[in-house]
Amino acid sequence: MKLQGGYLPNIPGRPSSDIQDAAVPERLDIALRQGGVVYAPAVADGTPVAFGAPLAWADATGGRIALPAPAAGIVRLLPGTKSTAPRLLIEVSSTAVKPTGKRYKPGKANAKQIREALAAGGVWPLIRKSKTGTMPPLDGSELPTCLIVNLISTEPFRADGQSILHADRARIETGLMFLPSLLKAQDGRIHLVVEKVTDPDAQALSLTLAKDSRFKLETLPARYPAEHPTVLARALRRHDRTLTPADSIWVLDAQAVLAIGACLADGMPLHERIVATGGPGVANPCHRRVRIGTPLRSLLPPSVFADTTRLLKGGLFTGTPAVPDSAIESLDDGFFAMPNTGEREFLGFVHPGFDRVSALPCFGSALTGADDRHLTATLRGERRPCVACGLCEKVCPIELLPQILHRYLYRDAIDQAQAAGVDLCIGCGLCSYVCPSKIELRQQFADVQTRLREEQTL
Ligand code: SF4
Ligand code: SF4
Repeated sequence: MKLQGGYLPNIPGRPSSDIQDAAVPERLDIALRQGGVVYAPAVADGTPVAFGAPLAWADATGGRIALPAPAAGIVRLLPGTKSTAPRLLIEVSSTAVKPTGKRYKPGKANAKQIREALAAGGVWPLIRKSKTGTMPPLDGSELPTCLIVNLISTEPFRADGQSILHADRARIETGLMFLPSLLKAQDGRIHLVVEKVTDPDAQALSLTLAKDSRFKLETLPARYPAEHPTVLARALRRHDRTLTPADSIWVLDAQAVLAIGACLADGMPLHERIVATGGPGVANPCHRRVRIGTPLRSLLPPSVFADTTRLLKGGLFTGTPAVPDSAIESLDDGFFAMPNTGEREFLGFVHPGFDRVSALPCFGSALTGADDRHLTATLRGERRPCVACGLCEKVCPIELLPQILHRYLYRDAIDQAQAAGVDLCIGCGLCSYVCPSKIELRQQFADVQTRLREEQTL
């Protein structure tokens, strides 16, 4: 498959591929609004809860989704405030995990049983529709023509699919065996996207799946944002011309398949996430297997919560400011910290750049191959107008013209920006990252998308 645009910055401090087990804290803190799903508590304040029992339920199209207890303990209900969603605290009495759901064999469970088991195990929200980025309906009213299982991770400082595949290949293979039952037709395809077919884990996976012609190993260059569901679906549609716009494509990542395998084959509810912690502000960048609800303050060193550090939830490009008093949620896969001294470098943009990476090839780092050890929240120099370098256009994976959209929006010509496709922007943030004038293009496009949505609902 081919990727349009994209870019991979050369940044050190990426998490090592080892996956370490994080300790389970004495208290787990569970948000009742996560991953775009709003849950209503199913337990009363002060009652004991067993591992895997439903703490809360959320209504979804065609059914309801459970939020399983990631550990046994006593539950405390915390009402929401203006800025925070209601939460549940579990005072952990036992960290033991055990199967709580029915166990199935691949090929022996029908689609309805699989959907219901994944909803009861809290795993269904890990599956996303490529068109909307939302979870699919539970009643089978929309079924996928094909599935994409993404094993590539290019956004620095998010959990890496290859590391997860390497650590847990057997469980991922089991999870994959259940996927054909979710397809609309028997002859539908499951595309496994890897960076290189020569990777030993990809080769082993391909040998295991060789007998089933529905599985296809695809390669995609490791350039950000190769893992974005819209980008994956676009690449697949170009690759497979038999797909029509009406065909629904669902996207899963390595962690989703891992959780499906554990839920269906072992009866294990979703109770942990593999989370990468890294960035210039973290001394030991690594992957950790973390119990859902683990407070960030017990997972990360105190230094990342200091005023001189900016902590982001997610990766370098799409991360949003992390709330220090929040906890690990069921879709989290990375936390990223970088120095934030508030300083501004006077004329920083004229720095020769022998040790600084830029998407512009005119700096010395293009020759020296240096990585960007200077990554901070500091603005290098003052903001500048667009210099028409064309870099944003070159990297945009959706083939938009960000500099033209910016020009339209600068003079508030929203109709023209809409005609030029501003609502197709997937918010990958690459244009803002490469822009030598540091124009906040992504934010500008996100703001106008919100404005257009609000106008539509009036
Ligand atoms: S944020 Fe939008 S416009 Fe910018 S590169 Fe990504 S998709 Fe393109
Ligand atoms: S990258 Fe920035 S300076 Fe270059 S064309 Fe795009 S908006 Fe203009």
